[in-house]
Amino acid sequence: MPKTNGSSISYSAGETTGRLSEQTIGACLAGVIRREPDAEALVSRHQGIRLTYAQFGGEVERVARSLLALGIEKGDRVGIWAPNCAEWAYVQFAAGRVGAILVNVNPAYRANEMAYAVNQSGVRLLITAPSFTASDYIDRIAEVRVDLPELQRVVVIGDRRTGFQGDLIWDEFLSAGEPVPPEDVQAREASLGCQDAINIQYTSGTTGNPKGATLTHHNILNNAKMVAETLRYSAADRVCIPVPLYHCFGMGVGNLGCVVSGATMVYPAPSFEPLATLEAIAEERCTSIYGVPTMFIAQLEHPEFAKFDLTSLRTGIMAGAPCPIETMKRVISDMHAREVCIAYGMTETSPVSFITRPSDSVERRVSTVGTVATDVEAKVVDTQTGETVPIGRPGEVCTRGYLVMRGYWKDPEATAEAVDTEGWMHTGDLGVLDEEGYLNIVGRSKDMVIRGGENIYPVEIEQVLFQHPAVASAQLIGVPDERM
Ligand code: AMP
Repeated sequence: MPKTNGSSISYSAGETTGRLSEQTIGACLAGVIRREPDAEALVSRHQGIRLTYAQFGGEVERVARSLLALGIEKGDRVGIWAPNCAEWAYVQFAAGRVGAILVNVNPAYRANEMAYAVNQSGVRLLITAPSFTASDYIDRIAEVRVDLPELQRVVVIGDRRTGFQGDLIWDEFLSAGEPVPPEDVQAREASLGCQDAINIQYTSGTTGNPKGATLTHHNILNNAKMVAETLRYSAADRVCIPVPLYHCFGMGVGNLGCVVSGATMVYPAPSFEPLATLEAIAEERCTSIYGVPTMFIAQLEHPEFAKFDLTSLRTGIMAGAPCPIETMKRVISDMHAREVCIAYGMTETSPVSFITRPSDSVERRVSTVGTVATDVEAKVVDTQTGETVPIGRPGEVCTRGYLVMRGYWKDPEATAEAVDTEGWMHTGDLGVLDEEGYLNIVGRSKDMVIRGGENIYPVEIEQVLFQHPAVASAQLIGVPDERM
């Protein structure tokens, strides 16, 4: 159990496990390949790909050799701009093995947004899908190519060419790596440390340009381990991952959470589709399902919902936004995910800092985001004075520990605003900690509505609206009013 410090102050420390891993992502993958070579690692249903850990390790190694063949050095930035697919995972782990910093580019980005991320982080090599739904990535890259001075090469997942000199299609990329001996990858791997930055994820924040949260092996691997332990994952688990891989929820909690436990990553579709998700759970006999609340709502409300046998589900994670109580109850009863957890976190904290435990009562799981994660500290502070507030009073949630990002890429000012000199990440979220250390998120400090001097937390009102059976989604916003 986490400790509140016995006083009436909103501070809580998770259990110190003494088990924080010093492994790199590559070493962790090598371990699971040794332990579980024949366990299924990855099922990408829309691509018809199904790989054991031994086979998955082989694919990752081919990509790693290709990255070396293209001259990728430790610390170089390699971007990936693609919806969910097997290649995303190969590139993620290959970058981890050769020490390239993977830059996740949101598949929904327009050309200028992609260009901002690529330029701000200095991506040398961009690996991209040819297109996704209505957007053509190759056209978009061509549109802004002259404005991408550091980008040297594009690799297209597939066989459509960009027309630019030096660019490769996927098969050419893999062929380029063939002359590189696997020992070269191992030698590179041996030169890496777990405190090296390995990932940049752009996060919008509330204002201005997106900022590149920079995370280390140590950050994301340990967070994935914590989640996997909380959910009691083993090689018998099969995790349905309909959340996007470009986000920590997909590539961290999803992919890495499976790799640390030998569980299976199951991708239902390139991006979230409720029907494909239900089909994946039923046909793959998934034991765990991830999503933000609206994804669960879309499945529960799908006209064909009743048709699917979801009894294989045991657990899962709902996170990313306040989870409506009614939705949570139905995920437990109608989707059979009786041990489903609520997680709270943010990209900057790798991402999960609070989580409910399977042993928590349904009441706790539907009304809070759980208690602080192991090896993490949390406090709630007054947004004006910075003082820790008394238990039961709202304030800004701050978290500290191994999970706090290295900083925003090349943005010391924004970093200093987010992470104070004592290492506390100021989340911008408003929460209330109770006497047993359970946290309730009540809003964002920036979107709190002040009505005639009274603080209104949109979430509290949204939760009430959600209780009505005809309400699927609710969002409270403030509008200017002359009198109030
Ligand atoms: P991101 O960096 O994209 O993961 O977004 C992080 C933000 O999502 C947090 O700062 C919260 O505002 C919100 N969030 C994440 N999980 C939860 C949750 N369980 N309940 C309420 N809000 C959440």
